Amino acid sequence: MKSFFDEGDLVAVLTTQPLDRTLDYTAPEGGCHLGAFVEVPLGPRRVLGVVWGSGQGDFDRAKVRPVHRVLDAAPMSGEMREFLSRAADYTLTPMPAMLRLATRSPGLGDPPSMRKIYRMGHGKPDRETDARHRVIAALSEYGSLAFTLKELAEMAGVSTSVVKGLVKQGVVAEEESPRDLPYPRLDPDFAGVALTADQTAAAGALQAGVRSGDYGTTLLRGVTGSGKTEVYLEAVAEALRKGRQALVLLPEIALTAEFLTRVEQRFGAMPAEWHSGVTMTERRRCWRMVGEGGAQLVVGARSALFLPYRDLGLIVVDEEHDTSYKQEDGVLYNARDMAVLRASLCSAQVVLASATPSLETWANAQAGKYASLNLTDRFGPAVLPKMRAIDMRTEDLPGSRWISPTLRRAVEQRLERGEQTLLFLNRRGYAPVTLCRACGHQIGCDHCDARMVEHRFLKRLVCHQCGETKPMPAKCPSCEAEDRLAPVGPGVERLAEEAAALFPDARIAVLSSDLFGSARAMKAQIAAIAKGEADIIIGTQLVAKGHNFPLLTLVGVIDADLGLQGSDLRAAERTFQLMRQVSGRAGRVDQPGEALLQTYQPEHPVIRAILSGDEDGFWRAEAAERREAGVPPYGRLAGIVLSSPDVQQVFDVGGVLARNDLPLRRIGAQVFGPAPAPIARIRGRHRVRLLVKAAKGAPLQGALAQWVRGVKLPANLRLSIDIDPQSFY
Ligand code: ADP
Ligand code: ZN
Repeated sequence: MKSFFDEGDLVAVLTTQPLDRTLDYTAPEGGCHLGAFVEVPLGPRRVLGVVWGSGQGDFDRAKVRPVHRVLDAAPMSGEMREFLSRAADYTLTPMPAMLRLATRSPGLGDPPSMRKIYRMGHGKPDRETDARHRVIAALSEYGSLAFTLKELAEMAGVSTSVVKGLVKQGVVAEEESPRDLPYPRLDPDFAGVALTADQTAAAGALQAGVRSGDYGTTLLRGVTGSGKTEVYLEAVAEALRKGRQALVLLPEIALTAEFLTRVEQRFGAMPAEWHSGVTMTERRRCWRMVGEGGAQLVVGARSALFLPYRDLGLIVVDEEHDTSYKQEDGVLYNARDMAVLRASLCSAQVVLASATPSLETWANAQAGKYASLNLTDRFGPAVLPKMRAIDMRTEDLPGSRWISPTLRRAVEQRLERGEQTLLFLNRRGYAPVTLCRACGHQIGCDHCDARMVEHRFLKRLVCHQCGETKPMPAKCPSCEAEDRLAPVGPGVERLAEEAAALFPDARIAVLSSDLFGSARAMKAQIAAIAKGEADIIIGTQLVAKGHNFPLLTLVGVIDADLGLQGSDLRAAERTFQLMRQVSGRAGRVDQPGEALLQTYQPEHPVIRAILSGDEDGFWRAEAAERREAGVPPYGRLAGIVLSSPDVQQVFDVGGVLARNDLPLRRIGAQVFGPAPAPIARIRGRHRVRLLVKAAKGAPLQGALAQWVRGVKLPANLRLSIDIDPQSFY
């Protein structure tokens, strides 16, 4: 194919508009490269697009319009175009939606230009006001970083005139700067720790992979604290030495701050950051610099996979089993799988790091598709916590209390010794159910098939499906009885109340994502806890994700049975991983830790596997069950959800799909359903689910596409296809 088009040549442009094909234009004055980011006229508008190839020539040539202009950005590489097409095919996503994922940069169409930026100056203010103080505090938090006027004023919560006043006095320095600057160079040999023998061997293997310049995926397994991060940073160093870019994906924004600090200590400078908490200016800079090669390392969320890397040599997926890698909204993709796809197209290495890998990854490693590295010991004197079940059937516990006498005694011991305890409960809010004691009515969401969760901190009822909130009613909405509404079951807020009553002198901190106004507030709280500013931490799954609390020696799991219920294929796997990780929080430094699991079914195979620490035993049993059932990773699944405001219609269309399943039968696939989805109504839309099951090697995507094309869908009906669904809701 041509890689450059001269003025007037016919080019095919893929736009971000929901069209099912590329459109023909003529190359503009000066020509354009294959892959160029362009603005093209479409009807009365101008839209973003990418030059995808030669024009198809099936439009009336006289009506073909020229490309309006070529944007100031490095053209999209052939490998990136291939990646987007393959990802689209795999996830059955239309190309325009894929392109939108790949162009999530603010100001992509802006011309290159200079702009004013502001950073800490050397002057002293003539007088200190509260507003001025906030500006100085905001700047000092970020050291030498510079911001635009608007950003700085917003960060400090002051008007721009306050900042300008400080500029006049030299307290804040104003500079002219090109819009997007390259990131400071990272030095692969800046500093490093002396690795243990185990770690050295693992790092050596990963580095050899990077040096080979070929594709390869490695599972890096090891308990929390075994040094996985130290080891994969050595692989990053090797990529930097080779002059190739590296990407580290983290499952949780709250983890980035801690990780960036480690990168800075290791490589002497901060890497590029990409996630929803990053300012617009930094996002724009990151997107451009990744494309121009001015960013050597990106640390980010799953969408960082769609940045326009110039030469990506390494992708690390940290905590690869984490469910947040599966995008459940819009384009349904699993970042772990897409990382492997992307790496295979650009001859890069993938490192999947985890203490408790997903069954898919475990199976791929067993089968030899992925290499496998094991770090068996924790670094230094820390040892794995002792794990024990507390059999709740024999504990003497009054109603509406969740901390058993055994757990209580263990917490008291820690308090006496000045050590920290984590009480883990994976439920946000105060109480999951609000019940009328007069008529038995449970308060539900008006738009969803879900119960409202009381959040006492917010003083409201919240629907965890659609986010709808309402004040706590004084009367029962059903029987109108007054003062008879009662909370049922615990959430973290209620558990905190119980802990405060049991341990009146303890300092208690609640870590739940909804209790923080911002990512920064959460980061500050986590740092304070790590320094010992709390005795008891009460947390949801937020705490399971790799935060380091050195003083923590006891973990109490309030309800180890919680995840075992439900019809989810991955319920056992999830519970196993979550419990192992939470338990792994205890005793990281030099005190041995203890993990106590409150359970009503201590003989359950999952609970037994957790307690005995027999990981491979658990995986083997779980794998055998899935193989038997022919489900992933030993078979293929696709979830189809139809939704519509009209309940009859949605079942009718579901029925038509189920009956017209010839394209699926041709590949030996089976359709189950239609059945009401586990959550049968969300935001007023009724939801019906079909499940398609096929053998491992079956060409599922093509058959699915043909199948849904064969049925005409009413305009208000939405259909979404989830390949390899992670959760069934
Ligand atoms: P993981 O990623 O497996 O949880 P980390 O890489 O975060 O483990 O290591 C846990 C802690 O031990 C970190 O504070 C890390 O800096 C430290 N550590 C690990 N290996 C070494 C080593 N060889 N020398 C010094 N410190 C180490
Ligand atoms: Zn709702």
